[in-house]
Amino acid sequence: MGVFGVYGVKKAGSVIYYGLHLLQHRGQEGAGIATFSEDGVCHHHRGIGLVNDIFDAAKLAERDDSIGLGGTLYAGGVKAGLDNVQPLVFSHKSGDFAIVGDGSFVNGRQIRDYLENRGCIFQTDTDAELLANLIKKQASEDRINSIISALNMVEGGFAFVIMTKNRIYACRDKFGIKPLCIGKLGDGYVVSSESCAFDFIGAEMVRDVKPGEVVTIDYHGLRSRQYSQFHKNMMCAMEYIYLARPDSDIDGCNVHAFRKEAGRRLFRECPADADIVVGVPDSSLSAASGYAEESGLPYEMGLIKNRYVTRTFIMPRQDMREKVVHIKLAAVRSIVKDKRIVLVDDSIVRGTTCLQIVNMLRDAGAKEVHVRIASPMMTHPCFYGVDTTTPDQLLCSTRTLEEARIAIGADSLGYLSHESTRASSFGCSELCLACFNGEYPTALYQYDYEQDE
Ligand code: SF4
Repeated sequence: MGVFGVYGVKKAGSVIYYGLHLLQHRGQEGAGIATFSEDGVCHHHRGIGLVNDIFDAAKLAERDDSIGLGGTLYAGGVKAGLDNVQPLVFSHKSGDFAIVGDGSFVNGRQIRDYLENRGCIFQTDTDAELLANLIKKQASEDRINSIISALNMVEGGFAFVIMTKNRIYACRDKFGIKPLCIGKLGDGYVVSSESCAFDFIGAEMVRDVKPGEVVTIDYHGLRSRQYSQFHKNMMCAMEYIYLARPDSDIDGCNVHAFRKEAGRRLFRECPADADIVVGVPDSSLSAASGYAEESGLPYEMGLIKNRYVTRTFIMPRQDMREKVVHIKLAAVRSIVKDKRIVLVDDSIVRGTTCLQIVNMLRDAGAKEVHVRIASPMMTHPCFYGVDTTTPDQLLCSTRTLEEARIAIGADSLGYLSHESTRASSFGCSELCLACFNGEYPTALYQYDYEQDE
């Protein structure tokens, strides 16, 4: 999910609209915007599809609301229906409020049972609705204390922004797994999953929300409360590897810089005797440039991406879905023909896409294809809201390196080590590497899942 919030900025709906455009890569299944007008009326609109298709930019620009939230839906953990598109808006005797969140609770099933046993009926599959109901159930008169009590009941990897008619609250899980940052825009503030949204709207980065922190933003400015004394900085490694935009800075580390360093280290750990380096567009291009720079091999655009195909390009049959990669990507025959290629990719989940890209390069005349992955072997599922598929479908959950090489049809295969993945953040974060090593930062509660020893 991409989450975005605005406080104290005129035409908040319009600012959120552009912010969501810049967070579109974090979810393409749906989007929503909620704003409060000065008289406390909430204006809320949600839809299925891309930001551009859902909202009327001209209409949003007509409104003068100066506080609001927005979100783009990534249906990794929940069903892709309109009900699950956030922000969600709730009525309460203490005042209406809205909530938008990224990530997933690991004790969500227990929280749902707890709330259902106390009379709650749910309309969505979202953890945002669970958190909203926990907030509503807290007896405190003071909203911040209700939020803090609710946050102390949940565990997982998450970032939430909560809005009342006169303030917003930005909070992050105590392990710092999901990103959330604050920017300054004129006299007001913006909150975003990623800092890439700030430049375009003219905001300046203030700081990241800290793990285990709630930041209240209102006419006083920023006020911080640490809701958990226990906190660690274990940012999701996949944010740096694949999910985030390269122009974002997360916890002090630029995403492009991380990927490029990973590519450099990948060459040192897994060199290949080859003629050219080719990256899989788009998320692997930074790592490929690092690999090329370190190896001295020329970096070539051997694959071209059709930029008009999005992840919403849904095919009705599996055989058709498997051909999508041929619509998304094309090999440049004049570049790859008769060449020994190092193909750099950011990660391998199932391996089916990688196999098709290897075949595509061979069909275009490549002599050899040496696959180099700028992250470790993915062996475990994610429980924090990233849809990395079930363990039995992961290429490397049961295969050896050699078996994986055969499955993707490569001449050789190499992965970045855990140590080098950690080092690529330049010490900015400890990193969650659970889908690569099974060491989950949190307890897993509801999941009947045996960690490998
Ligand atoms: S398990 Fe993997 S995808 Fe999930 S939060 Fe950790 S690093 Fe990210």
